[in-house]
Amino acid sequence: MSRKHIALIYAGGTVGMTRTAQGFAPTPDFDSSLAKLLENQDASLPRYTLHAYESPIDSSNATPRDWQRIGRDIATRYNDYDGFVILHGTDTMAYTAAALSFMLQGLRKPVIMTGSQIPLSAPNSDAPHNMVTALQLAASDVINEVAIYFNGRLLRGNRATKVSITALDAFDSPNYPWLAETLPQLRFDMQALLPQADQEKFELPDYDDTLVLPLRFVPGLPVRAVRAMLDLAPRAVILQCYGAGNIPDRDPALLELLGRAHASGVVLVACSQSPQGKVSIGTYAAGAGMTAAGVIGTGDMGFEAIFAKLHHLLALGMTADAVRKEFLRNMSGELTD
Ligand code: ASP
Repeated sequence: MSRKHIALIYAGGTVGMTRTAQGFAPTPDFDSSLAKLLENQDASLPRYTLHAYESPIDSSNATPRDWQRIGRDIATRYNDYDGFVILHGTDTMAYTAAALSFMLQGLRKPVIMTGSQIPLSAPNSDAPHNMVTALQLAASDVINEVAIYFNGRLLRGNRATKVSITALDAFDSPNYPWLAETLPQLRFDMQALLPQADQEKFELPDYDDTLVLPLRFVPGLPVRAVRAMLDLAPRAVILQCYGAGNIPDRDPALLELLGRAHASGVVLVACSQSPQGKVSIGTYAAGAGMTAAGVIGTGDMGFEAIFAKLHHLLALGMTADAVRKEFLRNMSGELTD
C-alpha cells in the first residue's frame, strides 16, 4: 500500500507561536521547525504537505468566516489527500470542529484538529506528540469524521470542549465517549466512531454576521437584561438554563418576552449549564412554560455544537420554522436521537 498523504493546515494558535516581549506571536520559520520535528520520525508517519495560512490567528479572534475558510480549504483539497490535520488554537477549537462537522457531513476521511498548550518552539512542548499522533490518526482507515486529538484522547469534534487552561489534557467530551485513546497504545472505541457514509454531503454556505446570542441564566438575572438582548434582534438565542432545562418562572414577564420573541421569528433553544445529561424542558414546573413560549430543547448537544449548528442552519437560508425542525435532527453525530 502506498504511503498516505495528509494535508496539514496551519490556521494558528499557540502551537506555532514563540514568546516575544509582547507576548506569544507567530513563529516566523514555523515551516522549518515543523520539518525538523517530522524528519526524525519513523517511516510509519504519512507524507504531509503543509498549507500555512499567511496570517495565522489566535483562535480567540476567530469568527464563523474563519470556520468557513477552513471548511472550504478542506473541501477544495478533499480529493488530493487521504486525510487532514488542522493546527488551530485551543481557545475556540471546539467551535471550529463543530462547524466543520456540519459543513463536511458524510466525511469518508479523517479530519483531525490539534494544537498545543505549549508552543512547539518552547521546552517540554506537547506539540510534537499531538502533531505526530494527529498525523498518524489522519492516515487511519476507521475515522470518518472531524475529531480533536490532544494528549492521548481522540474526541468527536462536535462533542468536545476545552476543559483546562493549562493541563495537557486540554479537551474532553463530557457527554460522549472518547473515540480513541492513544496512550500507552492506540485503542479505538469502534462503537463510538461514526460509520462510513455512502456519500459525502458537503454544505458550504456563506457564514455571515448573523446574530446567535447566548443567554446564561444566573440567580437574579433581571428580565430587563433579557429584553435588552432581544432588542438586538438576534436570529437565535441559546438559553443556558439550569439542570434539566429550568429557568425562573416567578416573574411571568420573562416567559411573555420569550413567547413574543418566538412569535416574531427568533429561534429559541434551551441547553443546560451542566455538561452531562440530556435537556428535558418541562421536567419541573419552572421550565414547563418554555415549551408554550416556543423554546425547544437541545437534547445532549454541547454548547459549541449548538452555537455552530444554529449558525450553519441559518447560513443555509432556512426560515425560523425550518431551523427549529432541522436543529433537532442529528447531522454529524452531535446529537443522540
Ligand atoms: N489563545 C490561543 C488560541 O486559541 C490558545 C492556544 O492555542 O492554546 O489561539
